[in-house]
Amino acid sequence: MILSERINTFGQDLLRRHGERVHKIALDAGFTCPNRDGSKGRGGCSFCNNISFSPHADARLDLAAQIAKARLAILRRTRARKYIAYFQAYTNTYAKVEALEALYREALKEPGMVGLSVGTRPDCVSSDVLDLLNRFRDQGLEVWLELGLQSAFDKTLERVKRGHTFAEYQKTAEKWNVLNALETELRQRGARQGSRVGTPFLTEELRHVA
Ligand code: SF4
Repeated sequence: MILSERINTFGQDLLRRHGERVHKIALDAGFTCPNRDGSKGRGGCSFCNNISFSPHADARLDLAAQIAKARLAILRRTRARKYIAYFQAYTNTYAKVEALEALYREALKEPGMVGLSVGTRPDCVSSDVLDLLNRFRDQGLEVWLELGLQSAFDKTLERVKRGHTFAEYQKTAEKWNVLNALETELRQRGARQGSRVGTPFLTEELRHVA
């Protein structure tokens, strides 16, 4: 059975909308996490192992060098020439919004970039960050926000030392969904449509929770 015949996979959806394959490039922009540096907790979630989450991202290299390295590997493997800058390692909204904007722009100016995917925690996404992502979306870029949840049960979140509650996830997801709903309404009224905004789902980090 071919999976893409049964479900609309993310890869197939990008292929359809961009007319060619789009590959995510995982980046380590040198962030840390409030659940590691003492703001929320120390030592991080019980399953935190960013080297395994982003084995090819390398904070010792600047973003352009990480992208160039990944581009070569991708070309050999899949020949994709369009990319999404995937800010994956640690908490990728954990900085002043001006610093975030500079980093995101630095990645977006690289050849072939069609958008951004930002991995973060639900308690680390301010309205300013949502506005910033929305502005990129309005420029016609792919914009995906990945909110880590791990569990909808506060007891489990406590056991894995997650440092936030399910209610905090719901609140941020709700704010993001309101933006999505606004976008849909504008589209229905015939206003200029930016490229698609990701609805928050559980992130890849789920794979690391037994
Ligand atoms: S939120 Fe992510 S980066 Fe932060 S401690 Fe947990 S797993 Fe690690």
